[in-house]
Amino acid sequence: MLYVFFLLFLLALIFFWRSNRQRNAAGLPGGRIVYTDTRGWGKVEKPLYYPALALTGKPDYLIEKNGQIIPVEVKSGRAPEAPYDSHIYQLASYCLLVEKTYGNRPPYGIIHYENRDFAVDYTRELESALIELIADMREDDVRGNIARSHEQASRCKGCGFRNICEQSLA
Ligand code: SF4
Repeated sequence: MLYVFFLLFLLALIFFWRSNRQRNAAGLPGGRIVYTDTRGWGKVEKPLYYPALALTGKPDYLIEKNGQIIPVEVKSGRAPEAPYDSHIYQLASYCLLVEKTYGNRPPYGIIHYENRDFAVDYTRELESALIELIADMREDDVRGNIARSHEQASRCKGCGFRNICEQSLA
């Protein structure tokens, strides 16, 4: 259990850490604004798991649309100009998990902010960038010491690991 917790923490940390570099390399899709009808959203009860990548995750919702299954990630707060890279990678990992679990590749996923929804295309490029990121993370997994990736006290202030983090700015 502690291992899973640590892995999720590491995932979150590295998603933020690597996102800018990866965006340049992969040309991540910024997402297009869409309207979605929340009535068709089905809650996901258990996490999805893909053993080959040891990847697990639970989209907030799944939508069935024209025989396809679209993952939805819900974020609190108002929408940025374009979805954050970390959110795109998180959604991409859900697309991958949906494909591996249901044998049906989602053409896109949705990030739902308070005031706006974005559809992010699940392209082969995005999938490759995600797999590369996961491989990098596995390498970092064996490193004992990971330096803080930012100078933002506000980010540390809202961080759930502040109490045990030795590099907290808040
Ligand atoms: S407290 Fe700050 S430095 Fe530490 S993990 Fe959280 S965000 Fe990173």
